[in-house]
Amino acid sequence: MGRLTDSALAELGALCPGGVFHDVELSALSWWQIGGRADLMLRPSSANEIAALMRWFAMRGIRPLVIGQATNLLFDDAGLRVPCIQIGKSMAEIRIDGPDVYADAGIWVPGLARRLMQAGLGGAEHICGIPGTLGGLVCMNGGSQRKGIGSHIAMVESVDAEGTIRQRNADVCGFAYRQSIYQENHEIITGTVMRFGFRPIGEIRAEMLDILADRRRKFPRKQPNCGSVFVSDPATYAQHGPPGEIVEKLGLKGRRSGGAQVSPLHANFIVNTGGARANDVLTLIHEISGAAARELGATLRAEVRYVAPDGSIFPATDATQDLLGETR
Ligand SMILES: Cc1cc2nc3c(=O)[nH]c(=O)nc-3n(C[C@H](O)[C@H](O)[C@H](O)COP(=O)(O)OP(=O)(O)OC[C@H]3O[C@@H](n4cnc5c(N)ncnc54)[C@H](O)[C@@H]3O)c2cc1C
Repeated sequence: MGRLTDSALAELGALCPGGVFHDVELSALSWWQIGGRADLMLRPSSANEIAALMRWFAMRGIRPLVIGQATNLLFDDAGLRVPCIQIGKSMAEIRIDGPDVYADAGIWVPGLARRLMQAGLGGAEHICGIPGTLGGLVCMNGGSQRKGIGSHIAMVESVDAEGTIRQRNADVCGFAYRQSIYQENHEIITGTVMRFGFRPIGEIRAEMLDILADRRRKFPRKQPNCGSVFVSDPATYAQHGPPGEIVEKLGLKGRRSGGAQVSPLHANFIVNTGGARANDVLTLIHEISGAAARELGATLRAEVRYVAPDGSIFPATDATQDLLGETR
């Protein structure tokens, strides 16, 4: 995308009032605190605004990138040259009607878990400690304890690249372990309808407190990180154990590259010890996945997603060969 003219920027300002920002420091957004500057960031406040923006971009052949709270993203040090649409607190309404819950994509996930608990709705206890937005969680089919949010979703609303608002039932959303069609189809999730079962509030609260205590004990909290780096997919888990254990077996726990380090506390986390660059993290990911394949015959796929300056986004394991100068 070339530099937008003043009149183009004025048009965007009219389509997304109060939500147009320039030269945004991605390292200030990313939970890894890594990344250059984004030329243009848009923070819309409704599905209709997003639809209008997408129509405007489609007419000009521009494909924007969508992000939530960047808790699962490794931005390139060169930043982002395509427009970035960030869905967050200006789209965070929730309506609870018996077991049915409608929630906007920008709602903060731990806050959603608390609202469900207060309504006596059980089933989503496992998401109570996951940072990020509901849109990001649905796209990643995120969850913990080997569960995914997809199993509670009835319908997902999104806006496609042409600006059409779409609604899909869960059975066509491609939910599989940490996967959904939204990782590939470039649509922007605007909200979901979910369904939960009733459970006594005390039981829900007790389970959530246990989960949070367990996470506090196991996960590094003081250094910037993006959670689990590799997917603990059921097949690899059954054969080789969880990714953290695999990294330990390979003797790579504590391994450093520049400012990045495989966490000495939990080997499926990479922490920024200060001044880490995207390539430092990619180097560690490349070393680990390479050693796992060579020494154990195990395929490790990254859960964290790398964002290139042209807005393409994919599992960080797919980025490493190209960026580190090797052929696929
Ligand atoms: C400390 C820590 C612990 C974590 N623990 C867990 C865990 O237990 N389980 C787990 O599953 N994850 C975990 N994560 C990873 C992360 O929190 C989840 O993947 C989260 O759901 C991502 O949400 P986000 O809003 O930050 O999305 P982002 O990181 O901004 O984006 C992630 C992906 O979602 C897409 N996306 C975001 N919003 C939308 C939208 N509205 N429409 C379409 N696509 C969208 C992006 O394009 C990108 O592909 C953890 C992360 C951290 C930092």
